[in-house]
Amino acid sequence: MSTKFLISSDNNNRSEVLKKKIIHYYIANGDGTIADLGREMDLSIPTVTKLITELQEDGYILDFGKQDTNGGRKPNIYGLNPVSGYFVGVDILKDKLNLGAVDFKGDTVVLEENIPYKMENTPASLEELCRLTNTFIDKLPVERDKILAACVNISGRVNPTSGYSYSIFYFEEKPLAQILEEKLKTKVFIENDTRAMTYGEYMRGVVKGEKNILFINMTWGLGVGIIIDGNLYYGKSGFSGEFGHFRFFDSEVICHCGKKGCLETGASGSALQRILLERYKEGSSTILASKIDNGKYISFDDLIEAIRKEDILCIDILEEIGLNLGKGIAGLINLFNPELVVLGGPLSLTGEYISLPIKSAIRKYSLNLVNQDTEIRISRLGERAGVLGACLLSRSKLLGVIHA
Ligand SMILES: [Zn+2]
Repeated sequence: MSTKFLISSDNNNRSEVLKKKIIHYYIANGDGTIADLGREMDLSIPTVTKLITELQEDGYILDFGKQDTNGGRKPNIYGLNPVSGYFVGVDILKDKLNLGAVDFKGDTVVLEENIPYKMENTPASLEELCRLTNTFIDKLPVERDKILAACVNISGRVNPTSGYSYSIFYFEEKPLAQILEEKLKTKVFIENDTRAMTYGEYMRGVVKGEKNILFINMTWGLGVGIIIDGNLYYGKSGFSGEFGHFRFFDSEVICHCGKKGCLETGASGSALQRILLERYKEGSSTILASKIDNGKYISFDDLIEAIRKEDILCIDILEEIGLNLGKGIAGLINLFNPELVVLGGPLSLTGEYISLPIKSAIRKYSLNLVNQDTEIRISRLGERAGVLGACLLSRSKLLGVIHA
């Protein structure tokens, strides 16, 4: 019996690799018979039977008994054992943290959202992140050694294979994933935040069987997650999807990346915030006036609330941002011919205020025949996409079905 074979993974061991594939089969298809598995994986019935027996001994698979069919022998149905292991997801947002845990079947056990946390690129901020995550794990209604892996979402350039984060928390020679592993005492993967949100939406959100998808993360910055033929697309080093730094404007506005004219300088939450302050200074009115006058920080929640309260200035700026974004997305549609574009991230919480100008620009600027193939939907998970994606990614990464 090797209850820990998932953790002490040996990719040269054929039976271990096949066992992981069987677990992945159940994740993707739900419960099934040995005959189903044999067919899908092109393996003989005795081989599948032996592996299933071992997986039952390991505790990962349960035998649910006979299936009711019309006549003939009734085969047994097998499926994942939810309590055989748990996965933790950590989603870092600018001024808060979302933490979650799912069971082995991928069902949510605990979700804690909006935990106060100030994201700063300092060792102290990293330390605080680990403290909050450890507190969360300690409070879970499961033994700590049942946590098989965790995934931490990091914004900016992340190489999930090497475990290095280049944009934030890059203080030591060691990869960030290793530092986190030492502090959280479990297997840790790191992932780019937009890609984790894309995976969350793919597994539990608005995606209904589509396999070629673009996920637009409309947050303070702007990123795109890419799914091709049902697989997350990483690029050579994991840096794919930096849509926000596409040269787009002929302007003097300097992007946080240091360059000028990036799309996100006119199509993101930070663009909305900056242009709002500029227009207010020029004499436009807004319901956020007193906050601005008092020098208070204008958060995403403030902006979204102002839009929901029909603040004309914020809505006008959001429309301009939507048009810019739609032009950019039109280019992506021409390039990728996706079945589905998901509008996600905090700005998607403004609903049609952002989606209508985006759709209008897409219709205007993409190739007619190409955009007819593409549906545009607003994210269903909203700000939960990241944390759920992280939980489910840590499971898929441990199984080796996604880049570790
Ligand atoms: Zn930039």
